[in-house]
Amino acid sequence: MKGLVWLRNDIRMDDNPSLKRAFEECNSVICVYVWSPEQLKKHNEANIKQDFLIQNLKSLAANLHTVNVVLLIIESKSFNTVKDDISNLIHEHSINKIYWNKEFAFDEITRDKEVYDALQAKAVDVEIFNDQIIYEPGFLRTGQDNPFSVFTPFKRRWIEHFDIKFLDIDFDYPIKEKLNFDSNVEDFDFGFTSSHGVDMQLWPIGEASALDRVNDFLDNKAVDYSKNRNDPILNGTSRISPYLALGIISSKRCILEGLKKNNFELSSGNIGITKWIDEIVWREFYRNITYSFPKVSKGQPFQDYTKNIEWIFNEDHLNAWKQGNTGFPLIDAAMRQLIHEGWMHNRLRMVVAMFFTKNMLHDWRLGEAYFMQNLIDGDFASNNGGWQWSSSTGTDAAPYFRIFNPITQSKNFDKEGLFIKKYVPELQDLDKSVIHDPPNEHRKYCNYPLQILDLKESRVRAIEVFNKAKNT
Ligand SMILES: Cc1cc2nc3c(=O)[nH]c(=O)nc-3n(C[C@H](O)[C@H](O)[C@H](O)COP(=O)(O)OP(=O)(O)OC[C@H]3O[C@@H](n4cnc5c(N)ncnc54)[C@H](O)[C@@H]3O)c2cc1C
Repeated sequence: MKGLVWLRNDIRMDDNPSLKRAFEECNSVICVYVWSPEQLKKHNEANIKQDFLIQNLKSLAANLHTVNVVLLIIESKSFNTVKDDISNLIHEHSINKIYWNKEFAFDEITRDKEVYDALQAKAVDVEIFNDQIIYEPGFLRTGQDNPFSVFTPFKRRWIEHFDIKFLDIDFDYPIKEKLNFDSNVEDFDFGFTSSHGVDMQLWPIGEASALDRVNDFLDNKAVDYSKNRNDPILNGTSRISPYLALGIISSKRCILEGLKKNNFELSSGNIGITKWIDEIVWREFYRNITYSFPKVSKGQPFQDYTKNIEWIFNEDHLNAWKQGNTGFPLIDAAMRQLIHEGWMHNRLRMVVAMFFTKNMLHDWRLGEAYFMQNLIDGDFASNNGGWQWSSSTGTDAAPYFRIFNPITQSKNFDKEGLFIKKYVPELQDLDKSVIHDPPNEHRKYCNYPLQILDLKESRVRAIEVFNKAKNT
């Protein structure tokens, strides 16, 4: 029997249930990755993320080669054409069965249904697996049999149902029959030009690098994670998100490695490790939201009343925010971190997103898209969840009148101003007593801009606009 594994956001061998099943059932296995520049553009996939994806496909092809599996890259114009391109490949290679892992967002679910229907019509066997989250999407439900829309009870239920058997993921891949062709990944014309300028040594390629990163975090940083995770200069988080977003490592592997170092305790023991696992559960929560509430994949807010919000648009403010020139040092440092690293610390994502949607009063969808266009870990569910949380339009969102003050955030989470100095070097000579909000003469001396808006006035304006929307 010959099997085809359609890889999407699961470009790994470890803990890949569809690949594993193909290995169990087939004599020979081909993997395919469908490359679609038009679709990548439509979904705002960042140039740096595409770069990372291509390099990781090459690394995966080399790993698969060791067990005689070939990774083919095919081009498809868009999600609408995938059904024909996959059908052709199945015909060309006389495939008996196709395997893939589930996706959660509306466009992906629609595409997969079309492919499934087309293959069923041709009597091709299909088997689909769940690899991204512990439970089947939508499985965890409230006492009233509704999908959860609040994190804490979701997490409680997640822990109640948890069974260590879910993490029975180790598998030794046997060598398969050799095929008479090779992977085309090295020769494939991705039509890709790098335009991001990030030093990719920050993001080493491949599954082994991802696992090393997790274990390095667990061995050296997890113990202080609860204390350090909000202080961006300490680099106290795992930075595993780009690998999770593309499925270079699975969340089950991350949880298993964490539990191994915590006596297999989920809610006691090392509070750094349990807190870190909580964050992975947040990821699962947002995937469930995406699955259970398709409106969020269609550009709609979770809270219907927020459709009435009268957002404003100011191109100068938008550009100042993007370039890190708002005159608020912590905001500017964060936005420049995104440009330099293709990544931003979680606390800062909340601070800049709240500033964008509340003080600047810009539509969260513009910020959401900009993040996707620039993040190496751009992930629809987590990004949409994070933006809707920050703009108070989402599930379990910050109440709209709770607006972070970026200067207070700066004093609390970058006390010495070291993170600011790292990314806004024009402020490096300033003392910590002034760096969070430099007086005008210091700004002039440092060639640093004035604030683009008044914090107090903009806060009052945001609350009025949200109040009005609520009462419309
Ligand atoms: C406005 C906004 C946009 C965001 N966009 C994305 C995005 O596009 N992609 C993305 O992966 N995360 C996103 N996040 C969530 C979070 O900021 C990142 O997952 C985290 O900063 C990644 O760093 P880390 O791997 O060091 O995290 P760690 O602190 O080491 O956490 C481990 C893992 O848990 C998950 N996680 C942590 N925090 C969250 C969270 N708040 N929501 C969901 N999952 C979480 C991530 O997969 C992360 O890799 C966003 C958050 C906000 C507020």
